[in-house]
Amino acid sequence: MNKLDTTLVISALKQAGFALTDSAKEADVVLINTCSVREHAEQRVISHLGHLKHIKESRPDMVVGVIGCMAQRLGAELLEHEAVDIVCGPAQIPQITKLITQTLNQKKQTIAITEKIRRKTTQNESRALEDFESAYDVEDRQIPAQAYVRAMRGCDNFCTYCIVPYVRGPEVSRRPNAILDQIRKLADTGVRQVTLLGQRVNAYKYTSGEKTYCLADLLRMASGIEALEWIRFVTSYPSEEFFEEILHAMADLPKVCNYLHLPAQSGSDKILRAMNRHYTAEDYLRLLTKARDIVQGIAIAGDFIVGFPGETQDDFEATVDLVKKARYKNCFIFKYSPRPDTTADKRLADDVPLDVKKSRNTELLAVQEKISDELSAGFLGKEVKVLVEGLSKKPHLDSAQSDGNPQLIGRTATDYIVVFNGPKSLAGQFANVKITKTSPLTLFGWLM
Ligand code: SF4
Repeated sequence: MNKLDTTLVISALKQAGFALTDSAKEADVVLINTCSVREHAEQRVISHLGHLKHIKESRPDMVVGVIGCMAQRLGAELLEHEAVDIVCGPAQIPQITKLITQTLNQKKQTIAITEKIRRKTTQNESRALEDFESAYDVEDRQIPAQAYVRAMRGCDNFCTYCIVPYVRGPEVSRRPNAILDQIRKLADTGVRQVTLLGQRVNAYKYTSGEKTYCLADLLRMASGIEALEWIRFVTSYPSEEFFEEILHAMADLPKVCNYLHLPAQSGSDKILRAMNRHYTAEDYLRLLTKARDIVQGIAIAGDFIVGFPGETQDDFEATVDLVKKARYKNCFIFKYSPRPDTTADKRLADDVPLDVKKSRNTELLAVQEKISDELSAGFLGKEVKVLVEGLSKKPHLDSAQSDGNPQLIGRTATDYIVVFNGPKSLAGQFANVKITKTSPLTLFGWLM
């Protein structure tokens, strides 16, 4: 979601006459797009601001803006930081050009956030957000031939540990036609893969007259766009609602990638209740079985939080058990850190010691790594189709095996990362790769 917002801001600023520079030292304006989901992300923003404060000592006219979730969460408090000139929440991002111009002209701090974040978005705000979505310039996308498209904004789920409902506001599904027009435009300008975004994208629901559209309808309609080849969606919430319809759309529509990111967060029913997740471990495993029965070859990824308040060794063992049964392709595992003003922060003591959180994190990672390794090994000798993203950031293959081409990185429809040698010009195109070596998270091979 933040990557999409960053792309939109870049496009809007370029349309207003700004140009990008890689160096903060040269910039007239520096914007930091922020995430509040974890404490660590916010700490990094504060450390960036400290660095920018030093630059501002010699360049006092430089304008620094904090945008996104942390801006909404901390509001005026951020203006107290010596480096900060602009504070702009996620719903006010369409105003960013105006805020920068005002600050540059009037040399005073500016703030634009939503006062009552859980109130319904006004028509004017919705219109501004919709107009801003179409500011997207395909030139500014970060990976060639790929683009994110927002299906929903906000969240109404109120998982007790999560800050999102308090910084991104109520859940709103965008009009299907607006989403499809956007995808059509992207496909016309060379985008081959779109990823539909929502905090609970599988809860997408839009009613127009007699008809209620769900994510499966969006997938079917987007599949009809000829130039588009792959469609993904993230993130899904474990719920029966629309689940089978979505799985059948995945199975029926060759353009929809067989990949599901379905965070479980814990394998203990007691902890799931405390997290306000509306399912049990058994319900969750039933959804996985359904997904694997309906969509052949589906790859599933999970998310877990270890060390949630009240998590005993038995609760943690239940999580290990779930991970073993789920056989995820990969898992994102986080140590719990309380987020201010969430229900867990207000009502539950952060009572699992840090060293216990760390050791549970390490243990769960090791369990998952073994599973990932076994699943990756199944690709040895097979040929896979990837959409090439570009140059691989770090060297992976033996240099002795290099054929003079650089190392490229691509992704399969099931979200496996594949590293191989090939011409740089393949970025943004599809390629077939024969897998010759595997590791838990990466496949290696040769271009066919
Ligand atoms: S579903 Fe839960 S974890 Fe996901 S964004 Fe909403 S409140 Fe946060």
